[in-house]
Amino acid sequence: MRISSTSTDLFRLSQGHLNVLVTCPRKFQNSYLEQLNIPINPEQDKDRNLGSQFHLLMQQQEMNLPIDGFLKADEKLEKWVKDINILAPEIFKPDLDKQIFRESEHNRTVQIGDYLITVVYDLLIAEKETAQILDWKTYHHAPKKEDLGKNWQTKLYMYVLAKTSDYLPENISMTYWFVQSQKNLKKIEFNYDSKQHQKIEQELKVILNNLTQWWEKYQQNQPFPQEPAYSQACHYCQYSVLCDKLENSAKTLPKLANIEEIEI
Ligand code: SF4
Repeated sequence: MRISSTSTDLFRLSQGHLNVLVTCPRKFQNSYLEQLNIPINPEQDKDRNLGSQFHLLMQQQEMNLPIDGFLKADEKLEKWVKDINILAPEIFKPDLDKQIFRESEHNRTVQIGDYLITVVYDLLIAEKETAQILDWKTYHHAPKKEDLGKNWQTKLYMYVLAKTSDYLPENISMTYWFVQSQKNLKKIEFNYDSKQHQKIEQELKVILNNLTQWWEKYQQNQPFPQEPAYSQACHYCQYSVLCDKLENSAKTLPKLANIEEIEI
């Protein structure tokens, strides 16, 4: 689905798409343009469902809607909420004297060329001078802070807020909460600044320029570039078996905007 009927068609991209694109352009083609979905195993499916339920629960809590149904449905959800209440009570008890805006599942969009870059914050908390993005993660293990800082979720979320608000980059931060990290809740925080903002803007330009070129070639039946043989990305890629077979295969025109976001 293209989202504009003007002479310029706009394509919607999220952090998930950018992460895949920088990992391997061919993976982006396989995942989003051709939607070659590889079935995930039942355990991953279960984890994903639990993660979705937790996000829904946190949204309902933020909206002052009942969450008892969720808590009864799974003891993990109950424990995570209990952990938050004990270790980070400020999440559930807003400081109404200071906070001027607070919203869960908060959407923002910025247009760059032919692309609409979209983000959805699990929770955005704004005070007069500062704004904080919160993100819930239900992974079994928290990644290293260094790796998380390079992830496009971290970069894009803070970039888009700086781009679409009056907050100085220096006054924007992002906090991930890993609710089932080892035994307890773990948080990883990032602070933003103008230098990072400029760097991310440049990186985005390069990625989007590349995407435009690959997209144009793709429409002339040229596949997106692959990672070199024996790349580490291929070792963990669900397309490692399919990839060679797909080389030079006929392509149909894709549905670029119908692309589903993946988790980091
Ligand atoms: S197997 Fe390697 S080249 Fe193929 S899509 Fe995956 S990462 Fe890219």
